[in-house]
Amino acid sequence: MKIYNTLTKKKEEFIPLEEGKVRMYVCGPTVYNLIHIGNARPMIVFDTVRRYFEYKGYAVNYVSNFTDVDDKIIKKAIEEGVDASVISQRYIAECKKDMEAMNVRPATTHPLATQEICGMEEMIQKLIDTGHAYVVSDGTVYYRTRSFKDYGKLSHKNLDELQAGHRSIKVTGDEKEDDYDFVLWKPKKEGEPYWESPWCDGRPGWHIECSVMAKRYLGDQIDIHAGGEDLIFPHHENEIAQSEAANGKEFARYWMHNAFLNIDNKKMSKSAGNFFTVRDISEKYDLQVLRFFMLSAHYRSPLNFSAELMEAAKNGLARIVTGAERLRELAGKVQDGALAGEEKERLEELKSLTAKYEAAMDDDFNTADAIAAVFEMVRLSNATATEQSSRTYVETMLAEIEKLCDVLGLITEKKEELLDADIEEMIAKRQQARKDKNFALADQIRAELAEKGILLEDTREGVKWKRA
Ligand code: AMP
Ligand code: ZN
Repeated sequence: MKIYNTLTKKKEEFIPLEEGKVRMYVCGPTVYNLIHIGNARPMIVFDTVRRYFEYKGYAVNYVSNFTDVDDKIIKKAIEEGVDASVISQRYIAECKKDMEAMNVRPATTHPLATQEICGMEEMIQKLIDTGHAYVVSDGTVYYRTRSFKDYGKLSHKNLDELQAGHRSIKVTGDEKEDDYDFVLWKPKKEGEPYWESPWCDGRPGWHIECSVMAKRYLGDQIDIHAGGEDLIFPHHENEIAQSEAANGKEFARYWMHNAFLNIDNKKMSKSAGNFFTVRDISEKYDLQVLRFFMLSAHYRSPLNFSAELMEAAKNGLARIVTGAERLRELAGKVQDGALAGEEKERLEELKSLTAKYEAAMDDDFNTADAIAAVFEMVRLSNATATEQSSRTYVETMLAEIEKLCDVLGLITEKKEELLDADIEEMIAKRQQARKDKNFALADQIRAELAEKGILLEDTREGVKWKRA
């Protein structure tokens, strides 16, 4: 298996630290809002990487954090007049709902930054004791970037060059020794959550969180560290500086980064009005379609989101689902019996398509080509499986398509989808029942909709509904 490693800028053969095992850390979202479709890309991509490792027989320890203490979370908590934990808990729960709908499996562990403060203080102290960090008068602790000779190795930047092209980012009164020194611990501000520490009451910087959570759940050395490409610098560069200085070992062997998702060829941005949450998309599409869309491009290629491309993804996925459903139907009709000679030949063809799929995935997880191999399987089965086929033939075809789709996290069973029009019809019936004072019927309709995940809200402007 080959993986493109951002550290060496090369595709490298994957050699695990421990035979048969993969230790993998993926930087998770900051939970102050519903996740957007850009955040969904690393979730879907690295969930697929995990599934493929498992398909190949590896036991994967997959850790992905939630950043649950952050300026944006605190700002929202102040706006709503609630505790920061109310905000983070709310959006963790919402994020998990979206993950489930995208068929992203829960991580082995989803650590929360606020539960790991002790480990962070320990690592910061170690960095201070070894000269890699220093405390200034207000109790802020900075990492001394110049003390780590390999700083820049991941982003292929050099501190001197960086500084030459950089206007000073020091502000007056700042006691930072160097522009690129970064915060490990910072003093609390009024109204903010804080923890006691030897340096001041305060909270950790963002980068130290991931170094500590990776160490706690995976050890000093891990196989794969992953996230979106915006995290290469400074986040992952800083994680390397912290972890390698504190642990004295190479932190991660392979660094994987997904490219960005744009909308209509523009950067996604709230102010420009081209911004979608995963929840927005779920109103129009089954999130399996979003997953299929994400995997139809290689994870290191920029991906453009548009209405047309989503329609194309919907049709593509439907072709696979229809093909699989047809095989299921046939399986209920065909006779038991041995494989015919011709069928044996076609199963050889099937095998070669599996090999094609694996070759694509072995080549730095080329999901686009893997999907193309699945399409060829569907075409082969559509053209050759009939009511005259043997049971073994039909079932072998079906099992292979299901298995390879499952590795991509794609569900091949047709879902009973309640369309917007059906929902509105039921709501109209419920309104009529209420007018007729048939409240039992009205309640029954409401319950039926709730069972299918449709929530109703009676407002002054009429009945509003949403998918849960
Ligand atoms: P954040 O909550 O901003 O820390 O982001 C969580 C994850 O989503 C990180 O791995 C980011 O790199 C990734 N991410 C954010 N925006 C995008 C985007 N537009 N396309 C792809 N990945 C993204
Ligand atoms: Zn991180």
